Amino acid sequence: MNRQKLSASLLTSCITVWYGSCSASSRKSLQRVVKAAEHITGTRLPAIQDIYHQRCLRRPSMTATLSSSSGLEVLLSTLQNVGDVESTLNILSVLDELLSAGTDRRIHYMIKKGGSEALLTALVKYGHTFSPNYTILIPLLHLLAKVGHKDRRIGMKAEEAGAVLLTLNLLKHNGQHARRTAACLWVIQVFCSSVSTANLIGENNGLDVIYRLIPQYTTKHLHAIKAAINAFSALLCTKANVCSAVSKGYISGLLWLYEDWHSKDTQDVAIAIRHALLCCLLKATDSTAGRQAFLSQGGIRLLYQTAQTCLLSKNLQCLVEPSMQLMRKCLPRVPLPVTSDQSAYSFLLPGTPAFPDVSETPGKSSDESDAEAEDNHEANNRDYDDDLETDLNKLRLPPDPDRPKELLTQYSCFCPELSHDFQREDEQDNEGDGTEEFYHHTIIDRLLERHGAGIPHHDPKLYCAVASKTKSIPEFSILAFPDFWGHLPPPGHQPMAPRKPNIQRQKVLEDIQRFLKTDDIINHVVFDLEDSNLQCQSDSLRFFSKFESGNLRKAVQVRRYEYDLILNPDVNSSQHTQWFYFEVSNMTADVPYRFNVINCEKSNSQFNYGMQPVLYSVKEALEGRPHWIRTGTEICYFRNNFCPAQGRRRTTFYTLTFTITFKHSEDVCYLAYHYPYTYSALMAHLKILQKSVDPAKVFFKQQTLCSTLAGNSCPIVTITACPVSRRWKDLHQLRNRPYIVLTSRVHPGESNASWVMKGTLEFLCSNDLVAQSLREAFVFKVIPMLNPDGVINGTNRCDLNSKDLNRQWSKPDPLLSPTIYHTKGFLYYLNIIGRTPVVFCDYHGHSRKKNVFLYGCSIKETLWQSGSAVDTVGLKEDPGYRTIPKTLDRIAPTFSFNSCNFLVEKSRSATARVVVWREMGVLRSYTMENTYNGCNQGIYKGLQTGTQEHQEMGMKFCHSLLSVTKDSRILYSRKLINHIDLDHNMLDHKSHNCFEDDEPPCAEEIEYSGGCPTLKGSDLDSDIDSSMARVDDDDDEDDKEHSAQKHQQDSISQSQQSSIKNHLFPPQTRQPSVDTPSERRDLRNGLSIAK
Ligand SMILES: [Zn+2]
Repeated sequence: MNRQKLSASLLTSCITVWYGSCSASSRKSLQRVVKAAEHITGTRLPAIQDIYHQRCLRRPSMTATLSSSSGLEVLLSTLQNVGDVESTLNILSVLDELLSAGTDRRIHYMIKKGGSEALLTALVKYGHTFSPNYTILIPLLHLLAKVGHKDRRIGMKAEEAGAVLLTLNLLKHNGQHARRTAACLWVIQVFCSSVSTANLIGENNGLDVIYRLIPQYTTKHLHAIKAAINAFSALLCTKANVCSAVSKGYISGLLWLYEDWHSKDTQDVAIAIRHALLCCLLKATDSTAGRQAFLSQGGIRLLYQTAQTCLLSKNLQCLVEPSMQLMRKCLPRVPLPVTSDQSAYSFLLPGTPAFPDVSETPGKSSDESDAEAEDNHEANNRDYDDDLETDLNKLRLPPDPDRPKELLTQYSCFCPELSHDFQREDEQDNEGDGTEEFYHHTIIDRLLERHGAGIPHHDPKLYCAVASKTKSIPEFSILAFPDFWGHLPPPGHQPMAPRKPNIQRQKVLEDIQRFLKTDDIINHVVFDLEDSNLQCQSDSLRFFSKFESGNLRKAVQVRRYEYDLILNPDVNSSQHTQWFYFEVSNMTADVPYRFNVINCEKSNSQFNYGMQPVLYSVKEALEGRPHWIRTGTEICYFRNNFCPAQGRRRTTFYTLTFTITFKHSEDVCYLAYHYPYTYSALMAHLKILQKSVDPAKVFFKQQTLCSTLAGNSCPIVTITACPVSRRWKDLHQLRNRPYIVLTSRVHPGESNASWVMKGTLEFLCSNDLVAQSLREAFVFKVIPMLNPDGVINGTNRCDLNSKDLNRQWSKPDPLLSPTIYHTKGFLYYLNIIGRTPVVFCDYHGHSRKKNVFLYGCSIKETLWQSGSAVDTVGLKEDPGYRTIPKTLDRIAPTFSFNSCNFLVEKSRSATARVVVWREMGVLRSYTMENTYNGCNQGIYKGLQTGTQEHQEMGMKFCHSLLSVTKDSRILYSRKLINHIDLDHNMLDHKSHNCFEDDEPPCAEEIEYSGGCPTLKGSDLDSDIDSSMARVDDDDDEDDKEHSAQKHQQDSISQSQQSSIKNHLFPPQTRQPSVDTPSERRDLRNGLSIAK
């Protein structure tokens, strides 16, 4: 084919192809291609101009046609078949020009059309000759690196084409030519995206060849050196290569190189090199052997020292993060200082020999962190939509009941309002107040006389009496002062705590110091739940947690004012640590004490987003300020280096660190994850509520639903209005009131749920007009604590059988999960007597999100969200499930409708919400999620939630229930809450997935297993581009070779030269161009390609 014809036809196709595949914004680059074509052919090309105008300007929406798609293929096949250098260069230049503008879409289009294969074939063709032509090879390698970088199968394709070892060979023969070296290295780096290719290169000495290209500090050929480090790093993506690099001692080599570059690069010209070395080390320490080598070669000390210098310089901040990651990753794993990973509290379950948790999790070596990191990665990347239930039958049809009907009659006693003889019952109702006899006239009396408590709905004496009946595993004999004395919300609101910049960095460095300066570390156990004989030093803090809801297993003094705290796992289990509640004393005022809770399990926490723990001071309380307050500074939450004591589980632990400066010396203070609310507090509260209501107006009845595993009673409370009279009409109205069932605190660590429930109960018993209306409209059945044993024993998630009770609803075991079994039984009972509740809501706490929101159940939304093919058009669904959340969005300041969702997940199929919806047919079946932190919207935006806001939420939830009543008698009440308007057809909001974390990524990396933090503008593409535009560190011999021509060309470079020519055209074909004034690429670069 004649050259002119070839170029013309290629370019015609090319323009068409690219116009078809690219957006109109690429017009400028198309113009350049046309100019290039004219340039190649030496004439103007009216035909191309015509095509260009016709196809590009007049028909901007045209998509690639058959003929156009064949155009690129012609271009690519010509590249593989054409023999002459000039044509090949022309094609490469056209391709390069087209790829250097626009988006990655062009590259992906080219890959789809076989671009990678064509480039590889050309590489093999030109690279295999005895004396390879680098005029072609260098642009070819550049292009291949660019395209291959985006081609996920490039490694395999390169192996098939035989290009892998060829490139390695080219590299071996060009060690002295920096440009050639860099080009080969980029391609090798790209090939290593495939494990087998990386291994192939490793097996053929690739590691050694490339390692030798990384010199001591120099200012020459920096781009080639960086390319070598990056290629070396890319090779370390496989276990075999890491192993080989470690065994060859390259870790110490890399450390030595880093130290060398760090100490000599005083002008900070090689930051990118230093960064690349750190990334290389991060990869090399992916294996246990790598980390060991890093440790034994003094890597931690070196990086600790270099990081100190980097911290002082603004330029070097980008080196701090990878240094920190590397140190954290390589710090040796330290077993938790406990004798057993099992909870200090064990409970002998009925009918089982011993701890089920042990037998369920077979022994795993803790030295499997590589696999563990992968597991975590997979879990994080899970496509959560897979979890949505798409089986229409499972969504629509209830399963068979879990028990025979005969067993349900026992629950009739919990509906006394249906068969109630009000007069007689009133007389009987006075039992149960004898508990007060249990309290002794002791110090309590004197305290109360002197300080006077006076907290509404709280009575310390009653609390004592009730608590004495509470059964705990350790048989608590001491009350925590705040529970006994009571809590009043502090005046005003507490804003979220601002996060100090780089606070985590500072804390981690302090932790690393422990490893480096072991002499400074005290490591003295000052509290041990399992060792009451422990002797405490007189000047250390004292800790205590053996009281209801208390959780602290061990406290270790690390430095003078720093303590490591270890939480007790859930009873009969070795996990679920999060909740804490303990007493601390013997402090000195105005000294900042650092506390580290070192065995947290959740992968992130609101403690990274402005949340503070809560503190209660006895001295303050006795001075008339009995407040739980948010407190603590320097708070952050990050992954640490502790591992389980016995290595039974593959566990990652996180540190919650905070600093407390106590106001008083010699005070007794309490610290907790969140405002505590004990079982005894609930029982005392119910008694007070019962006494507070007017029995002539309010029907309030507390009964025992069942006994828990430990023998505590699980209360069920009925609240409704007494009938106005005993006439048939009024009794009939009472007996036809719809039911509303509310539950909470199935998860013991979610004390916020109890505070919200406290608000609900107090409101429902109040004289408020809306409360009266609600009592007249509904019968409320409240089971305020579904997991009393867990709450009492300070567990976070489970019951005494180490099971999450909110995953037992499908088939609850009557012996092991009695509270769930009987709550469900009671709901079944309501169902079969035709009194299915109109609303069911289970109150919870959410540890990772702000605001309050509801999860509900909708078939349609679940199917839509899952992208299911099921036709939902004919599917009828009552949208009434949205009324309550929509109403709450308007009337409850902490509530956010945008956080709600109504999706049915398979993983949640055994939760209260889903089971009550599906099996009992309750349309409005909800989980209420309450933040531990605060709000990011509404009038409380930026504030942390207090107990008052929790209680307010409980009250607002009651308000919202007015929206579901159709009883005209109480419609007037709606006017009391003027915000409520009843629009049942609101489907405007899109729901989102409830698993999503709504927080932005944390400012500092919580994990340390991630990849190397990237350096801005330092990716492969920009390296290649900038290399093409740079001559400063080019090969010496190239410089000499072309110095003459360089002079000659300098004049051209001053004129505005098309970038196409700058890149790839040999000098003899160059002509000054008038195009692209915006091009900044330097022409001089083109010199080295001269023949
Ligand atoms: Zn929960």
